[in-house]
Amino acid sequence: MAFAHDTAAALLLAADLVNSADLSGVPALETFLDRHLVEPRRPATPADLDAVLALRPQLRAVWQVTDPEAAAGLINDLLCEAGARPRLVDHGGGWGWHLHVTGHDAALRDRIAAQAAFAVADLVRLREADRLRRCEAPDCEAVFVDLSKNRSRRYCDTGNCGNRQHVAAYRERRYRDRRAGTEAEAGTEAGTEAGTEAAAAAARGA
Ligand SMILES: [Zn+2]
Ligand SMILES: [Zn+2]
Repeated sequence: MAFAHDTAAALLLAADLVNSADLSGVPALETFLDRHLVEPRRPATPADLDAVLALRPQLRAVWQVTDPEAAAGLINDLLCEAGARPRLVDHGGGWGWHLHVTGHDAALRDRIAAQAAFAVADLVRLREADRLRRCEAPDCEAVFVDLSKNRSRRYCDTGNCGNRQHVAAYRERRYRDRRAGTEAEAGTEAGTEAGTEAAAAAARGA
């Protein structure tokens, strides 16, 4: 399933914002906006920063709901609060024609909220909302959007979680092999998960 480039960009921005616990000041916010090519835009203010930070838990909630009706409610709230007014624009910068969900004069928070909500609405309509995932590493809170063709991503890319989990699975596997060898005891440790096997194989190959 291919997504429109502006949908993908808005989803990646939303996930990055949820994961960005370090937006500690206006310069950090500007760097974030530059990274995601949020343009054209006015310089961010301290009030923008506060509003954008307050938006983070609202966006995280979108990743946490599993019931489509609850998801629709959250998305509609975000669109409504932000005063969404979708329009097609081409303002240069390599984007080509794409949707802006608010006017350029909208507050930064509203602009991000509306763009994210519209992109998630796209996923819901395509029955692809399960691409909004939470990282499966047990010590990680990060969210991500799986835009891969085979929808196989399990870990975020913010904390090197995939590698950490592969290494952990490999160690666990070696520990089990060693125990099985020393204890000469068959059966009790045989229930290795298929996922762990695959991860250990990947770790060995790496
Ligand atoms: Zn644009
Ligand atoms: Zn993670």
